[in-house]
Amino acid sequence: MSRIFSGIQPSGELHIGNYLGAVKNWARLQHEYDSIFCIVDYHAITIAYEPEQLRARRHSMAVSLLAAGLDPNVCSVFVQSQVPEHTELAWIFNTITPLGELERQTQFKEKSARQESVSAGILNYPVLQAADILLYRANLVPVGEDQVQHLELSRVCARRWNSLFGHRTGNKTEDGADEREQFFPEPEPLLTPTRRIMGLDGRAKMSKSMGNTIGLLESPEEIWNKLRPAVTDPKRIKKTDPGTPEVCNIYHLHKAFSPVATVEHVATQCTTAGWGCIDCKKVLADSIERELVPIRSRAAELAAKPKMIDDALSAGADRCRRLARDTMDAVRDRMGF
Ligand code: SF4
Repeated sequence: MSRIFSGIQPSGELHIGNYLGAVKNWARLQHEYDSIFCIVDYHAITIAYEPEQLRARRHSMAVSLLAAGLDPNVCSVFVQSQVPEHTELAWIFNTITPLGELERQTQFKEKSARQESVSAGILNYPVLQAADILLYRANLVPVGEDQVQHLELSRVCARRWNSLFGHRTGNKTEDGADEREQFFPEPEPLLTPTRRIMGLDGRAKMSKSMGNTIGLLESPEEIWNKLRPAVTDPKRIKKTDPGTPEVCNIYHLHKAFSPVATVEHVATQCTTAGWGCIDCKKVLADSIERELVPIRSRAAELAAKPKMIDDALSAGADRCRRLARDTMDAVRDRMGF
């Protein structure tokens, strides 16, 4: 069975962008692949943070993930820092990755542009991502189209390490060099069907740092208070102006949450000025509510049983530690340690 790996930052509760863009898909994939899902707390410390908050956010994220459908009896869910081999393999990949390659990463350019002082951790962030994936020799990584380029460094690390340290197979390559085993697979993207979820401002991707999210566990009132002023088709000024659904974020959220017949109705009402945006948003609020009610009630049950969460994370970490040790035993052997 092919193995998939994906990680999520412990940012506390999930928002609907995380849910639609990643976790809802993971809940389906866990039944089709050997699935490993990681709460990447080592990644979270590349910016300033409070230790107590990190602990609480890690726990809330675990609650949200299980409430949103990850089943620890089917997949492995664990916290990155409970498997220290992640950072060991990252160090090894750091030693074979040219500095210029890291400085050219889009992620680094974007993050460093937003901060006055940039830690080496931000520069090395994609190397740790590569280690996260390759530690489990995962073949596939579920990603959205906008994240495919982030996987490239993992593929390069695998290729470079294999060519330097993979055992010689005894065969020759086409150019006469010694062929090396492909110890680390070059992971392929497994494209997430949902398109990128934009924030309620309609301008940037939904993200906690942009303050444009709807939390998965927010109450109907909180959700409505955010939906009501959310940006729609900017050319639809009055109720009597026909709109263009494809340019409206609310319409795309309908596509994610509402039944097909409702989506068609939304498009008709919008293009014929049959209703106002508030009417449209009320229908969306109902659709969101239908999807989130069971998640919210599972989260409340899980939050009341913290030991169950800890046990699930421990079981996931135990399994991942075993896999990680096997990989690192082979890596150390091939590298002369
Ligand atoms: Fe968007 Fe709905 Fe308003 Fe059309 S009617 S612009 S789809 S919110």
